[in-house]
Amino acid sequence: MSSTPQFGTAEYKSATGSDRCKSCQQELTSTYFRINGMLACEKCTSQLQAQTPKDTHATYVRGILFGVGGAISGLILYSAFSIITEVQIGFVALAVGWLIATAIKKGSNGVGGRRYQIAAVALTYAAVSLSAIPIGISYLMKEKKPAVASSANASPSGSSATGVGASSSPNDSAIAGQPAKQKKNLGSIAGALLIAGLASPFLELQGGFSGVIGLVIIFVGMRIAWKMTAGPRLEILGPFQANGPPAAAPSA
Ligand SMILES: [Zn+2]
Repeated sequence: MSSTPQFGTAEYKSATGSDRCKSCQQELTSTYFRINGMLACEKCTSQLQAQTPKDTHATYVRGILFGVGGAISGLILYSAFSIITEVQIGFVALAVGWLIATAIKKGSNGVGGRRYQIAAVALTYAAVSLSAIPIGISYLMKEKKPAVASSANASPSGSSATGVGASSSPNDSAIAGQPAKQKKNLGSIAGALLIAGLASPFLELQGGFSGVIGLVIIFVGMRIAWKMTAGPRLEILGPFQANGPPAAAPSA
């Protein structure tokens, strides 16, 4: 987990009993720090701080903007894959999570942390769930052309033409209901589509096992995005003063 190799091993004490910097092995004579619990001299600490990119507001905004770009790409990727292959199970959600996390880290210059993780997870969910809108529209367009629909491979949900009713999924009917209400303004239609899209992974639970699998895959994709955007575990304590009497060091 730790991305600071020079502080990754056990603490080191010199033969004389005085503390040494874990990184450069110099004796700690004046000011020192603790980095992830390891002793460090002032020079090595400031060097490490300089190497670590700062988490500023601008960094976060850039990370989010890149993340939104990644989410749009992910939405297109997910939708295109589902429409072209007609594969019902959304394994592409894993790639979407990876794509969004990669974009955020690119935008933030590698800075991560809790707020980046929350954004990554939310964007991954939004990208995958909102893919239901283009997929649903594409499905409806295919339904309108029976020749195309019957020549296409018979997917389980596509066999509704054979007479078995109640096979249309809830989000399909939600999308289907919208064009009929032309009086409604575009904003409310878009809002309804947005809500139906965001709810689609849960609405698809009514489809049984494949719905459960779909939801699990989304959460795995979100978990990938969460883990990738975690911040470096770098805890710097100090400064401490090392020039006190050697016996003063508390031994817990
Ligand atoms: Zn040092």
